[in-house]
Amino acid sequence: MSPRGWAVLAFAGLVVALLLAAALLIPWARPPAPRADQLAALRELPADQVARGRAFHAALRPGGYGALAVGLLVALALGLTPLGSRLVEAVGRPFGDHWVAQAVLGGLAVSLLADLLTLPFAAWRQSVLTRYGLSTHGWGGWVGDLLRSYAVSAVIAAIALLGFYSVTRLAPRWWWAFGAAGAAGLVVLLSFVLPVLVEPVFNRFTPMEPGPLRTELTSMAARDGVPVRDVLVADASRRTRAVNAYVSGLGPTRRVVVYDTLLREATPAEVTSVVAHELGHAKDRDVWTGTLLGALGAAAAVVGLHLLGSWSALLRQAGVDSVAEPRAFPLLLALVTVVGLVAGPVQALVSRRIEARADAHALALTGDPVTFEAMQRRLAGVNLADPDPPRWEHLWSASHPSTVERMAAARAYARETGR
Ligand SMILES: [Zn+2]
Repeated sequence: MSPRGWAVLAFAGLVVALLLAAALLIPWARPPAPRADQLAALRELPADQVARGRAFHAALRPGGYGALAVGLLVALALGLTPLGSRLVEAVGRPFGDHWVAQAVLGGLAVSLLADLLTLPFAAWRQSVLTRYGLSTHGWGGWVGDLLRSYAVSAVIAAIALLGFYSVTRLAPRWWWAFGAAGAAGLVVLLSFVLPVLVEPVFNRFTPMEPGPLRTELTSMAARDGVPVRDVLVADASRRTRAVNAYVSGLGPTRRVVVYDTLLREATPAEVTSVVAHELGHAKDRDVWTGTLLGALGAAAAVVGLHLLGSWSALLRQAGVDSVAEPRAFPLLLALVTVVGLVAGPVQALVSRRIEARADAHALALTGDPVTFEAMQRRLAGVNLADPDPPRWEHLWSASHPSTVERMAAARAYARETGR
């Protein structure tokens, strides 16, 4: 069989594995809580809180969709015309057209150009966050965060670009196989390494102080049978008023992280409810599920891009001879952008299902739907959520069930268990 035949076979195998893993690991059969409960919950929320959440999201919307549109247009303009390949060539010229310069510096230049052109929208977003009092760290802090995140992305991108184009040179007919394995490996590595290496760049983490709350949280984790190494507090308050908690890492790096803002804004019972939700993620191995789906998806994407990249009309458009050369990076980026746009709503749907399961876990673990609902109300208030967002926007991008869906789930649980 030819390398191309193997590629077709590998692509089909990866897609089947992805669908199978998604079918088995995602809790699809979880009907949303009754709409009547949702509407009842909505009516009980303070009207000014609902109005403020809606106004906030209306203010964010033009910038958000503007960034999406400009990002897509820039990617298509660079990738589907010779503009992008010429930019890569121009960046490589001072270095004698060396492939390493084209691959790493050219690739970074193309990514940076796309980032710079969407920067005004990011600034818009920050101005809205500041106006609504959600951002606390000012423009200096915002620029600092931006530079830090550019630096982190640039290091990861440089390694990935150098690795990828080394492989396309060393194995011109089989690079897609190594590329797929490398992409899958990178996803796994980032799941392990990200919490340890990258999160401290943005926040300081300290173990939660000993006291009744810490004791309650650790004993609840023990009762739940979830190995949690530590409960850490992140100093999120230096940039935001938003409250949150999350679980990150796999195995020995796994920890529950609680924002200091959550400790300040919520009652201990509500913090317990939030952490019970996070324990649900740990118990159901959601980080593993996400990592596995991400790794399979990344591998399938590499092989798919290779197959798509043998389409000569596309190569002609981009003014390149092969998708495997550094000059074709803008074409790859354009394809990845389009695939990402299509995959976004699917990822959001998967995420909402997983979050609904973690909510159900929190309700069952605490047996306290009243506090769960109070916590949802508070989260929505502090984070300026739209409690019942437009349907299309919810389906397009929401990673969590809406506030009224989550409140309604608590009411349904209370009814079923008679609490
Ligand atoms: Zn969650």
